[in-house]
Formats: sequence, structure tokens, C-alpha cells
Amino acid sequence: MFCPVCNGMQLLQESCPSCGGSVQDYGRSSDFAGPYAPYEQIEFDQHQTSSNMQNQFVCKHLLFCPSCGQTSETVVAEYD
Ligand SMILES: [Zn+2]
Ligand SMILES: [Zn+2]
Repeated sequence: MFCPVCNGMQLLQESCPSCGGSVQDYGRSSDFAGPYAPYEQIEFDQHQTSSNMQNQFVCKHLLFCPSCGQTSETVVAEYD
């Protein structure tokens, strides 16, 4: 499993939840979170396409908005 964003294969195209501006990817948020495992299995229901795909490995990315200073998180589905 690998994250296409961490591997430079895909650019994050997210917008700031506060001001709608373009945000910067600050990388894997677990790098900032301390002693948690880098891979967490969480329920991924945003892009769920089939009922037997209940769990998927995702990479959490920390986003920073240079316009308003807001930080947020997004998840990227990892590839096999
Ligand atoms: Zn990633
Ligand atoms: Zn903003």
C-alpha cells in the first residue's frame, strides 16, 4: 500500500474549508501526531463504491491555508 500523493504521483487539490483558497500539503499528518502508527485503518465512506470495500487504507494529509492560516486534514486513498 502506498499513498500516491506522498509518492509524488498525484497532487492534492483541496480547498480551504474556511476561505476556499488553495491549500498547501504539509505531508502525512501522522508525521506530526507523535507515536501513532503511520498507517491507520479507518472507515472510508466518502468514495465508497462497493459494499465489500468497507475499509481501505488511507493516508492522512495535513493541509495549511496560507491565506487565512487554517489547518485541516484530508485523507487520500492508498493504492495496492
Ligand atoms: Zn500521503
Ligand atoms: Zn483559508
